[in-house]
Amino acid sequence: MDTEHLLSQLGGDFIVLPESSGDPVDYLLLNTCGFIGDAKQESIDAILEAVELKKQGAVGKLVVFGCLSQRYSSEMPSLIPEVDAWFGARDYDPLLRWLGVTPDHSKCRRRIPTECGPGTAYLKISEGCDRRCSYCAIPFIRGAHRSVPMEELLEEASNLAALGVKELVLIAQDTTYYGIDLYKRRALAELIQKLSEIPQIEWIRIHYSYPADFPEDVLEQMASNPKVCKYLDIPLQHISDVVLSNMRRHVDGAWTRHLISQLRSRVPGVVLRTTMIVGHPGEGPKEFEELMAFCREAGFERLGAFMYSEEEGTFGAEHFPDDVPEEVKQQRLDLLMQQQADISLAYNKGRVGSELKVMVDSVAPGGKLVCRSQFESPEVDGEIIVSAPEGTDLQGLVGSFVSARITGADLYDLEGELI
Ligand code: SF4
Repeated sequence: MDTEHLLSQLGGDFIVLPESSGDPVDYLLLNTCGFIGDAKQESIDAILEAVELKKQGAVGKLVVFGCLSQRYSSEMPSLIPEVDAWFGARDYDPLLRWLGVTPDHSKCRRRIPTECGPGTAYLKISEGCDRRCSYCAIPFIRGAHRSVPMEELLEEASNLAALGVKELVLIAQDTTYYGIDLYKRRALAELIQKLSEIPQIEWIRIHYSYPADFPEDVLEQMASNPKVCKYLDIPLQHISDVVLSNMRRHVDGAWTRHLISQLRSRVPGVVLRTTMIVGHPGEGPKEFEELMAFCREAGFERLGAFMYSEEEGTFGAEHFPDDVPEEVKQQRLDLLMQQQADISLAYNKGRVGSELKVMVDSVAPGGKLVCRSQFESPEVDGEIIVSAPEGTDLQGLVGSFVSARITGADLYDLEGELI
């Protein structure tokens, strides 16, 4: 989405080609991630690949921006001197000026979504984070929490709707914090209500919600507003009081259990996606067993997990020894994900025979529709592969809602047929 905002301001001055075009370019702009070890390595590999392209003459100037260059701004230029310019995660205006473009933020509200199918777009409602989770480098990479004014988001969403977008995926570092800086109150529920009044928008999906002080009115929106997907992405990270306290998450196990039970009872059928960290300082065998038991009981339909990665400059790196051996972290990750595989598979199998409204994202090479229901978020969850009668104009359905009957399921994806 950050890249889309940048691209929207380049329009008119540049012809923008996707990476997949393979054509030679005057400028290659590379957005990087610097959150944890794996992401940093992936970004460095991508930069080195781009350097190779530059050496081969396929790239004129190479520009790197985003979190990695923000975080290592003093080291990176001397390590990879082939890069022509480095910009941080908040340096879009300097980057545009370097390219000879006058920044015009109003164009961001008229961006062309490129990341999902044509019926779906992300809407970034705020930037930065005021939490200080002990393991996380994001607050000092992305800065303090800044909400996007509601009228700007409504304008952006209306423009997206005019382009055919019917599903909005709300994202931020912490969506439930929306409004506190600008309006001195939590305003996510009000934003959702106003977005749902845009007639073409049929689905609103909430990602990256934070469990502490989860707003009651957001729960109410999820329970009563038919346009809000019965789906919530709520990274919990752990359940043990010891580990949650070390993580500085401002919640304990009892509150977390209470919140999950509220969500399950107030929003029947809700699908919960969460993220856990294994091997955090303070997690011994007992704490890990507590995590396993909680995940079994809560029955998260979707769960991702990471091994703790000590990040320099964080509270955790400065105050706790990274004392869980890497092989133990890996074993715990494998155990948690094996357990989750059984839970997710049972959930998917239980859906066979149901009829669902689905969004058509694309057409698969074999001539089937690639879809999602309100219970699958783009890019992170599985797909519903739907077969249609011969002669159906498959391409004409992309970006629309259709009805499908689920006929089969595996761990990640479902199969269905067009009704
Ligand atoms: S809420 Fe998320 S982004 Fe903010 S510090 Fe915690 S983990 Fe990092």
